[in-house]
This record gives sequence, C-alpha cells and structure tokens, in this order.
Amino acid sequence: MPQTAADRGPVPAEATYDVVIIGAGIAGLSAAIYATRERLTTLVLEKMMPGGQILTTSRVENYPGFPDPIGGMELADRLASQAVRFGAEIVSQVQVTRIEPPTGEGEGRCILAFAGSKRYCGRSMILAVGSEYRKLDVPGERRLTGYGVSYCGTCDAPFYRDKHVVVVGGGNTALDEGLHLLKYASRLTFVTLGDAFRASQILVDELARQGDKVETCFASTVTEIVGEKKVEGVRIRNTRTNEEKPVACDGVFVFVGLAPLTHFLKGVVDLDERGFILTHACTLQTSVPGVWAAGDVRAGTLKQAATAAGDGVIAALMAKEFLKQQHPAKSSVP
Ligand SMILES: Cc1cc2nc3c(=O)[nH]c(=O)nc-3n(C[C@H](O)[C@H](O)[C@H](O)COP(=O)(O)OP(=O)(O)OC[C@H]3O[C@@H](n4cnc5c(N)ncnc54)[C@H](O)[C@@H]3O)c2cc1C
Repeated sequence: MPQTAADRGPVPAEATYDVVIIGAGIAGLSAAIYATRERLTTLVLEKMMPGGQILTTSRVENYPGFPDPIGGMELADRLASQAVRFGAEIVSQVQVTRIEPPTGEGEGRCILAFAGSKRYCGRSMILAVGSEYRKLDVPGERRLTGYGVSYCGTCDAPFYRDKHVVVVGGGNTALDEGLHLLKYASRLTFVTLGDAFRASQILVDELARQGDKVETCFASTVTEIVGEKKVEGVRIRNTRTNEEKPVACDGVFVFVGLAPLTHFLKGVVDLDERGFILTHACTLQTSVPGVWAAGDVRAGTLKQAATAAGDGVIAALMAKEFLKQQHPAKSSVP
C-alpha cells in the first residue's frame, strides 16, 4: 500500500537540499559537479560506493580528455573528488526504495526520497540510478554466480587462463568482452539467439581472425548451468531444432543486456516497456515536474560514460533553471 504524505510523520525529517541526486555513477557525479558549481546545495545518495558501472572496467579508452586509457576506478575517484571539492555531500550505502512526488507549491515544495528509516528532501531531484546486468534466469545461474558464472569479462577474465569459456550474447558487449577473454582463455564458445552477431563489423572481423579458438552456436540458448561447487558445463538448446546438448566448460559469461534499476519508481515517473525512464528529449525532465533523469537509466540513451556525463550536466542545469523560477527569493539559487 503506497504511503501518503499524511503518513510521513514517524520518519525523521532530513535537511532540505536544492537538489537530491539518486545514484553516484558518472551521470549522478557529473550532475553533482555542475549543481554544486552553480551553488545549489546538493546531496548524492548512493546504495554502494561512488562510481557505478565504470568501476568494473580496468580500461576506459574513449572518455574525452584522456589520450591514454584511464582505469574506471580512477575516473570515478576523479569525478567524486571534483564534486566534493565544489561542496557536494555524497552519502554511500544508502539505497533509496521510494520517492514521493511533491505535494506543496513554491517554497514548501519538496520531493522525498526514502531509504530505510530515513527520508531526504529535495526541492528538485535527479534520478541517475543506472542499470544492472540482465540474467539468463536458468537453473544453476544464481547458485554458481561467483563460482564460474560472471557478468564482467574485464573483472574476471584473468581467472580463465587456458580454460574453456562459454559467452552468452551476440551484441557489442558480448564480442568486446569475448575478445578480452581470449587474452586468457584457450577456447571460447559463443551462444546467441540470433542467426548472426549484432555487433559492430570491426568486432565481428576481429573475432573471425581468432580461428578455431572460437566456436559459435547461432540460434541457440543456454538452458542450464551445471556444476556442484563451480561451473562444470552448460546445456545448449538449438531454438530451431529444439535439440539440446551438454557442453563442458570452466566458466560462463553472460552479456544479454542491461535492466534499469527502476522498480522503486514504477507508478511515480513514466517508464517505457523495458523500465527505462521516459524524459523530454532536450530537457531530460521526467513526467514529474522538478524531477530529471540522467545516464543509462534514461530511455533512448547510448549507454556510454561520456553520454551519461552529458546527461548529468543537462539535468543539473535544468534543475537550476527550474529552482530559479520556483524559488526566486532563495539565496542558494543564484
Ligand atoms: C564492464 C563495463 C565496461 C564499460 N566500458 C566503457 C567504456 O570503455 N567506455 C564507455 O564510454 N562506457 C563504458 N561502459 C558503460 C558506462 O560504464 C556506463 O554507460 C556509465 O557508467 C553509466 O553511468 P550512469 O551514471 O548512468 O549509471 P551507473 O554507472 O549504473 O550508476 C548508477 C549508480 O546508481 C546507484 N543506484 C542504483 N539504484 C540506486 C538506489 N535505489 N539508491 C541509491 N543508489 C542507487 C548504483 O549503485 C550506481 O552507483 C562500460 C560498462 C561496463 C559494465
């Protein structure tokens, strides 16, 4: 049963910020840099640690301004330090489970974010909660995650030196990560639902150059991941013939897309059929005035670090304009 404004009583009130940003990935941190530099009081709530998905990659080669590759962790550190230098308050280990649209008008207008026993109040809000890896949802997957089932080649590839690895997926991420895995693994079996890869031609060509180290099962799917204490194999079904075969392997890497982390936003802001947040194309405002979305969680974005940063910048500057109109007398809104 959704809580109403009248039920807010027992939850202790927090200070009111000009902007509350949910998620400290690249989008959220970029928004925090711009918001604080515009002298808006800014709170960033992060359920884990600042950085988001980029933390899981050791090498970012396409973030503008870095002619040499930069580690994801270092990039995240730099963004967080920059935001803090301008005055952003970043609170880690706080998972927002609900937001409540504003009920008041003008000065009394406040959008609430609830996390555990606390609530946080923002005159405006930026949703930058990103996405997470989609699962196969087959027997064995959950039990063996961390024991041979992985969603990050960059993180786990070195564990598979001279091993046979199954890669599930046929898009850019699957091929990119698969090629990285081949620096270590002796054999790779791709399993993809399509009749061809959906990746950039440059990746497909590079994969073709790997010769018989790579086998591909097109029009196929993994129906089970097998193993007692660690992955020992998979069952692969051909979706055309329905034939199923066991394949022995040491690891399974799953790259079947991203799911937005928007369960807690259902019914509050408009989402597309996959759960990504719908926004105005230019202003990035959601269906709730005073609430913006930025980064991978926004419908129609390119899911890149630089585009997430750009989104964060737009959302922060739009929030500033909004606050200027809503709170013309308030000193913290220049
Ligand atoms: C392995 C890997 C390699 C990549 N390499 C590159 C690359 O080389 N170049 C490139 O441009 N892009 C790369 N990307 C993509 C890039 O990392 C993402 O596009 C970008 O980080 C998205 O940023 P974001 O801030 O929108 O979301 P995220 O990074 O997903 O951040 C969202 C943050 O919100 C937090 N959060 C979620 N829900 C809540 C909640 N309810 N309450 C509080 N906090 C919450 C999460 O913990 C997370 O920290 C890579 C991605 C991966 C996974």
